[in-house]
Amino acid sequence: MEKRTVLLNPGPVNVTERVRKAQLRGDLCHREEEFSRLLGTVRRKLVEAFGIEKEYTAVLISGSGTAALEMAVCSSVSEGQAMLVIQNGVYGERIAHMAQAHRMPVHLLTYPWGRPPRLEDVESALRKYPEIEVIALVHHETTTGLLNPLPSVSQLARRYRKRLLADCISSLAGEELDWSSCPVDGVVGTANKCIQGLPGVSFVLVRKEDLPRLQKVPARSVYFNLARHHAAQERGDTLFTPAVQAHYALEAALDELIEETVDGRIRRYRAYAEQFRKGFAEMGLELLIPESRNCGPNA
Ligand SMILES: *Cc1c(COP(=O)(O)O)cnc(C)c1O
Repeated sequence: MEKRTVLLNPGPVNVTERVRKAQLRGDLCHREEEFSRLLGTVRRKLVEAFGIEKEYTAVLISGSGTAALEMAVCSSVSEGQAMLVIQNGVYGERIAHMAQAHRMPVHLLTYPWGRPPRLEDVESALRKYPEIEVIALVHHETTTGLLNPLPSVSQLARRYRKRLLADCISSLAGEELDWSSCPVDGVVGTANKCIQGLPGVSFVLVRKEDLPRLQKVPARSVYFNLARHHAAQERGDTLFTPAVQAHYALEAALDELIEETVDGRIRRYRAYAEQFRKGFAEMGLELLIPESRNCGPNA
């Protein structure tokens, strides 16, 4: 009997046989028309799976989720403007490290791990530092399991005419996102968490209305240049050699997601989570973030 490994971490995740086999479709040069079609299909299916094809466009990059996040961070702040980073866990801290590594002006709102940000603090930072152009935060902070109040921060961003960037790497297709009433300008995701593809390709879902602004942001990196990747991908082209086989697997994973629907997948994960919480309680373990303290989908 074939040995089956069950992965119990947030990522990498187990994938289906269909996704695993998809990467064996064969060798392909990314300068061929077949790859151009695959690229177009993956980008289209990503936004279709979430029902956001009118407002959003997908920009892919080869690399793990961190690659897409770094691309989004260093490509989204205009010359002379700053980023406000909300940090309450390892991943929020990573956003700040990225901005600092690219020598971008940043303001930090730091909380102990597991503590949600206070909206008053966000608002007073926006008042105090008018140079803040982009607010960045992690949606689901995987280190603690805390769900940050993305909808309330989105409302603040709108009120103050700021752009919002969210690391949704572990929440996309796992937690609800209200795409229409609480818009996020840049949503960062990866193939290999709740999307259930294989590692090697990640993406940013960009609000189309923000594209003209992004095109004017100065280049801070050659590889991680969001506007340039977007322009190339719109032409059916890629800037560099992509992880072709990871794209095959992502296409199959998106077919599965569209069949299951995003809502169906969220329900399935929620049922798993309930089972785990029950089991942990039976073992006498306490939850770090009690469910009542988590900022849910309407926070
Ligand atoms: C997993 C994760 C990352 C990092 O993703 P990699 O694919 O390991 O680069 C970043 N942010 C969050 C919230 C994550 O859960």
